[in-house]
Amino acid sequence: MSQKKLNGTVIVTYRCNARCAMCNRYKAPSRPEEELSIETIRKLPKMYFTNITGGEPFIRRDLKEIVRELYKKSDRIVISTNGFFTDRIVELCKEFPQIGIRISIEGLEQTNNEIRGLADGYNRGYSTLKKLREMGMKDVGFGMTVQDRNAEDLLPLYRIAEEMDMEFATASLHNSFYFVESKNRIHDRPMVAQNFEDLINALLKSNSPKKWMRAYFNHGLIQYIYGQKRLLPCDMSFDTFFIDPYGDVMPCNGTKDKEVMGNLNEQSWDELWNSPQAERVRQNVRCCQRNCWMIGSAAPAMRKYIWVPGMWVLWHKAKALVMARPYSMYESKVVRDYRDGKVSKEALDKCSTCDMNAEVRDGLSQASKAQLAEKTGEEIVDADIAGQMGENP
Ligand code: SF4
Repeated sequence: MSQKKLNGTVIVTYRCNARCAMCNRYKAPSRPEEELSIETIRKLPKMYFTNITGGEPFIRRDLKEIVRELYKKSDRIVISTNGFFTDRIVELCKEFPQIGIRISIEGLEQTNNEIRGLADGYNRGYSTLKKLREMGMKDVGFGMTVQDRNAEDLLPLYRIAEEMDMEFATASLHNSFYFVESKNRIHDRPMVAQNFEDLINALLKSNSPKKWMRAYFNHGLIQYIYGQKRLLPCDMSFDTFFIDPYGDVMPCNGTKDKEVMGNLNEQSWDELWNSPQAERVRQNVRCCQRNCWMIGSAAPAMRKYIWVPGMWVLWHKAKALVMARPYSMYESKVVRDYRDGKVSKEALDKCSTCDMNAEVRDGLSQASKAQLAEKTGEEIVDADIAGQMGENP
């Protein structure tokens, strides 16, 4: 058994009750009967960090048992959620006060509700966060996917997070089988980058080394939206993995189609991790051109190549001694080139993962796909939740 602790993301379900503009997963749910069992979760390796995600993880009624199992093998667990199932979240946090909770909030009230398509989503998410804070939960925060529609809410939302003394995680638009999407793209790059620049300067001004590292991560997001190379190598599948609801182990959630290293329902962890198939996937990762910059792949790289963000932070903190705004997006050549008309919007669009003609993959099993012949994903999940609420809210 490998002794090295890994970084794992466990996608417990593809069922989701939100209707996000940038993610079509809600149209392609998994069948509950096929989703990761406790037996399979028991086979996962030791991890220094585990992210539990979906779909919407709290749709699973056995999430507590999953977390209980995962705590036997993971030093730290964070759940990404849309915050809709307040009572379930509160209930889980009573048993696991050390757990991290990140609630996706895509902007101030109106913007959030438009983007996420969840009735009263902002207030529900916000009040769930407040409740968790009142309970004394320490590791709670917002997660925001920055795009043209909400970029101007970036700094105001960060200020709210600060007031509430909460974590504030950012992402930008990606395309992949996981999001069941290939057309996501930033249209007004300078406007979005300007808002990231404001956030980066606010983060650099703080006294928190964690926030300085976040500033570097957000600097990486500017590179990403301009279609540039990742700031750090992508080592997904080497000491990091994702597992989907069917037990398929994958390097990440950023690929166009699912890249499968093996299946944990059928194999042991060691067999899977050391298999020729896993090696082939690692070779694909080595030449992957997608240049994603999501926290799941960037955080392990920042940890591994710590001297790179470390030097960046030192340089900008030194500048902060003499300048009110130590960071400028024009530090990046491509941002200057675009401003100066040396590179066109079309050229940058081509560097992005947006592919208007791509056949969109969803990573579903045959059985999950088959249920969509009769009903839409939304109908299936709505009926599922209505049934759950009827049984025992
Ligand atoms: S760049 Fe890394 S995280 Fe993105 S698709 Fe390629 S292997 Fe996955």
